[in-house]
Amino acid sequence: MQSLIDEIAERAREVIGRGKVADYIPALAQIPSRKFGMAICGVEGGEYVTGDADETFSIQSISKVFTLILALQTIGSTALWKRVGREPSGNAFNSLVQLESEQGLPRNPFINAGAIVVTDAITAHSVSPILQLLGLVRRFSGTEQIYIDEVVARSEAEHGHRNAAIAHLLKSQGNLKARVEDVLAAYYRQCAIAMTCRDLARAFLPLANGGKQYETGEKLLTPLRAKRINSLLLTCGLYDGVGNFAFRVGLPAKSGVGGGIVAIIPGKYAICVWSPELDELGNSLAGTRALELFARKTRLSVF
Ligand code: GLU
Repeated sequence: MQSLIDEIAERAREVIGRGKVADYIPALAQIPSRKFGMAICGVEGGEYVTGDADETFSIQSISKVFTLILALQTIGSTALWKRVGREPSGNAFNSLVQLESEQGLPRNPFINAGAIVVTDAITAHSVSPILQLLGLVRRFSGTEQIYIDEVVARSEAEHGHRNAAIAHLLKSQGNLKARVEDVLAAYYRQCAIAMTCRDLARAFLPLANGGKQYETGEKLLTPLRAKRINSLLLTCGLYDGVGNFAFRVGLPAKSGVGGGIVAIIPGKYAICVWSPELDELGNSLAGTRALELFARKTRLSVF
């Protein structure tokens, strides 16, 4: 496995230079584009890393999986699924148009509108939603080192006009309970969580392992909830590139504009790759390539 991922890293790095680092906020535009890390955590206990796997990066939309888990625990699935759909959107992740035409019911929890409703579900029920979220991420990843990059969080808030527009529209449509300012503050901070590939592979292992924590075996999710989250990742986890990703890789996964992608091989592994250059849809270019190579070489996929 170690020599396999070292070789994959070398080959995936060949596409670096053909994408573009996220530049919608200055704090992300400065990240060196040649970084590449990959970590694999196995349900049987093995762990393999290569490249910059122990360097922290901005997890951005990958955080939406953690907030979804926390919201499901907080208000329950019946209440949450009345407010957010479970269908791919076929639209840009930060689109307002669909929200307007579909009367404030976001298509899924991973586009920004859906994620903002999910964050609201937590914010409306907690005086410190982000502390609660950090607690969950620390429990899942087994490390206390997880933190918020405050420079990124401030940058998100300063440039978050489109997210503010989405939140206000949701409020006017009756699908936000907490104050818009409080929901946005929590949303920007969740996007700014910093983690390494190793942390993320560990934190996502419960989704590959029927809900069990990577180290202690503690049950963090029911097998049914883990299965359902994986299903949502497969259909909605890669922005508007989800179909092509399923075609090339064939695994449930979640990406973020920080260049991270976490993929699940049910019953076997959680894999995190990080490479900051993105394709035109916002998914890591070398990260997608690495996962495609991994799935092909190991013949592991959900199909
Ligand atoms: N902070 C980003 C936004 O809300 C997250 C985007 C992402 O990773 O998809 O626009």
